[in-house]
Amino acid sequence: MKPSRIFVAGHRGMVGSALVRRLARENVEILTASRSEVDLRDAGGVSAFLQREKPDAIILAAAKVGGILANDTYPAEFLRDNLVIEANVIHEAHRADIDRLVFLGSSCIYPKFAPQPISEDALLTGPLEPTNEWYAIAKIAGIKLCQAYRRQYGRHYISVMPCNLYGPNDNFDLATSHVLPALIRKFHEAKVSGRDEVVVWGTGTPLREFLHVDDLADGTVFLLNAYDGAEPVNCGAGFDLTIRELAEKIAHTVGFEGRLVFDTSKPDGTPRKLIDSSRIQALGWKPRIGLDAGIASTYQWFLEAQASELA
Ligand code: GDP
Repeated sequence: MKPSRIFVAGHRGMVGSALVRRLARENVEILTASRSEVDLRDAGGVSAFLQREKPDAIILAAAKVGGILANDTYPAEFLRDNLVIEANVIHEAHRADIDRLVFLGSSCIYPKFAPQPISEDALLTGPLEPTNEWYAIAKIAGIKLCQAYRRQYGRHYISVMPCNLYGPNDNFDLATSHVLPALIRKFHEAKVSGRDEVVVWGTGTPLREFLHVDDLADGTVFLLNAYDGAEPVNCGAGFDLTIRELAEKIAHTVGFEGRLVFDTSKPDGTPRKLIDSSRIQALGWKPRIGLDAGIASTYQWFLEAQASELA
């Protein structure tokens, strides 16, 4: 049966807010809770909320997230906050007899040198990329929690693994963001201030796969209704590009005509992490938003957000 009362945990974030937009098009009741109402790191608060509200499904999009530098700078929070959020929400969902849950992970759970494109079977077959292993270990634990509650208690808890995401409500703070929003900001600010150089971290050679968050939200809602298995399901765009190619694309969209300078004192991270999305595609889903259109609309969103901050 399709769930009709769905709790989106983390609705203020990029993924959670996209899920709320997507679910608004379905005939469902959406439940949310702000951090001041329910701190997901507090088991008592999570328990009271779920026992009172009794949603029939949860999408767990709440997480401590960030780019390559943030992961390296805040390993304690990346590991601890994510572990505690997952453990609380999954365990308290079970205790409140909520039978459906979708856990959102990340492609960084896969081994650094996994064969490409990376299939779901690559999980735990080799060492992780050190720059984000804290986050990855927590996300692997989340997958295992879903599998454990399924195996021991018959719960219908599933896991979705997206590639790198971008879109509205992304984090554009240069110290903690991922590459795509960081480059939108850097090129925009260079253009506005008339600078002719933008610094791109690393060598520019790593390959990354980018999915618009509205596509991920669509894929997640699709899986909630179409998939019920223990194995995680990858959800990606199906192609990757180098950081240099990405930077050139963003420069073009923003209208920056100067030079790119590569700062090789900054880490590259994993050389490539293209995920194999054939499992979700075989179930009947595919992404719709092309990268060029997605970057253009995200740049528009950034400009509007900046204008409203200044207003
Ligand atoms: P990752 O996919 O987990 O490695 O996370 P990121 O999105 O933070 O970084 C992806 C790649 O983009 C890495 O090789 C970074 O070194 C590179 N990169 C280039 N410029 C930037 C930047 O300004 N910010 C970030 N976060 N990454 C950058």
